[in-house]
Amino acid sequence: MECEKLLDCPFFAKYKDVMEGDTYRLFIDSYCCGPLMDRCQRKLYEQTHGTSPSENLTPSGYTLKNSKPAA
Ligand code: SF4
Repeated sequence: MECEKLLDCPFFAKYKDVMEGDTYRLFIDSYCCGPLMDRCQRKLYEQTHGTSPSENLTPSGYTLKNSKPAA
């Protein structure tokens, strides 16, 4: 089970390789490759605004102030 936007998603591209136990791993496992994918706030943002959100918008809907360096 994978989100249909997986290959084009800046959030996923940035955080897909983080390790188990990392907060970002929970987002990936729960939203991008998990049961919450249809509740992703990034997708809702895109549907509402017609444009992609910042890469710092998490699937749960809060915006990271400082983005974590790529793993
Ligand atoms: S962050 Fe949202 S839009 Fe991006 S791959 Fe994950 S579930 Fe899909």
